[in-house]
Amino acid sequence: MSGINVYAHYKCEGDYPDLDYAGAAKRLAQAVSCKTIDRGENTEQAPFDDLHALVRSSYPHIMASSAFEEVGRNLLITCPGSDPVLPCVLLLAHQDVVPVVPGTEEEWLHGAFSGDMDEAHIWGRGTLDIKDMLMGELEALEYLLARGEKPRRCVVFAFGADEETASAGATRLSALLAERGMHAAWLLDEGTTTMVDGAIWGAPGRVLTDICISQKGYLDLRLEAKGGGGHSSNPFGGTSLERLCDGISRLSKARPAPELTPIVRDTFRTLAPRIAEEPLRTLVKDVDANAEKIACLAAGRRELYPFVATTMAVDMLEGGSATPNVMPGDVSATVNFRLLPGTTAGDVLAWAEHALLGTGITVHVAHATPAGRIDSTEGAGYAEVAEALEHFYGGVEVVPSFVCGGTDAIRYERICDSILRVIPFRPTPEEATGVHGVNERISRQTYAQGIRVLVRLLERTIL
Ligand SMILES: [Zn+2]
Repeated sequence: MSGINVYAHYKCEGDYPDLDYAGAAKRLAQAVSCKTIDRGENTEQAPFDDLHALVRSSYPHIMASSAFEEVGRNLLITCPGSDPVLPCVLLLAHQDVVPVVPGTEEEWLHGAFSGDMDEAHIWGRGTLDIKDMLMGELEALEYLLARGEKPRRCVVFAFGADEETASAGATRLSALLAERGMHAAWLLDEGTTTMVDGAIWGAPGRVLTDICISQKGYLDLRLEAKGGGGHSSNPFGGTSLERLCDGISRLSKARPAPELTPIVRDTFRTLAPRIAEEPLRTLVKDVDANAEKIACLAAGRRELYPFVATTMAVDMLEGGSATPNVMPGDVSATVNFRLLPGTTAGDVLAWAEHALLGTGITVHVAHATPAGRIDSTEGAGYAEVAEALEHFYGGVEVVPSFVCGGTDAIRYERICDSILRVIPFRPTPEEATGVHGVNERISRQTYAQGIRVLVRLLERTIL
């Protein structure tokens, strides 16, 4: 996968030669130097204020015609169109970034919040997740307005301040927009970061880029086994820890069965003519009839596994005795699931309870976020986003997919029927390891190209 030369797919880099790419890079670097980390009640306000001030001062044409609202630390910027009948376009991004992973400070070649730039890259936390999108979306509209365009369609920027933690900002902004009776034609939010080698889908030599039309859900199940302690010389019936381990082992053996959601069926259908590898090549000739076989095959590949399974990770054990001659009291385990679109927390709870029947272990939901709604590739904006990606990234297959983590977008389902999670910026797989990792950076070339994608997308949808 690391073999993809993303830059070999860049094309039409001469479009919009009058866009101020050097200035855009500098503004992104300034945004990165705002240390906008959400720490709940202990969040530092000043970096968010600095970022808001930067946005206000950097985009004069947008600010001249838009309403700029600070909703707590969240931002809402509404740029009205000339035709109020047209539903608006919603452009999302989050302001917050994750902290530097403790212990990795020394590995950073440039300070994570230095906003350093060199000839090739803009460095720091947020350059890929996701201040590139936040600033890039503004750059695109600013460019069109500065060129004298008068958009017919309203554009709303909604920038939450706590996507990496509670995602409460997105909930709040969405509620506010709903209160105002707003319904967006489509929205853009973050999705997959880089391009994907088609080989993992059985289409070697092809490069894929995806538009995510759903996202996986999140579920923590807590398993508990009661124990009364006592001397270990008579462990008649087994200890609580043994019963808990037995339960975990039952879940591991059962595992939620792989399945092909409608989205992955679509991915395989889109790729079918390109799939060269047997037995996939034959199976994808009729995806629906062979769905089970395809799902099992895909589940055997590390990269595809999360796309065809509600995954299960046994992550935490609590309890246990402090000494070997005393039996444990109550012990518990927390198991994390990532729910396929279409699978609910209730489905998995029922599955786990069934697998644990007779063990005496109790199960309850500790935390859950539902999977996203499955939107349509026929929905508003999808074709235009695909067109813009194809225009600037040559020789790539645009396929529908879903996000395996969570994003703010799910909070907007009630005010938008077409949620498109796609990052217009395509760094190399190597650069993409900086996301939540070390040496996060974006090349000037990648940043400029992503802005071009956004300009073209807006040109063709709001003017
Ligand atoms: Zn993000």
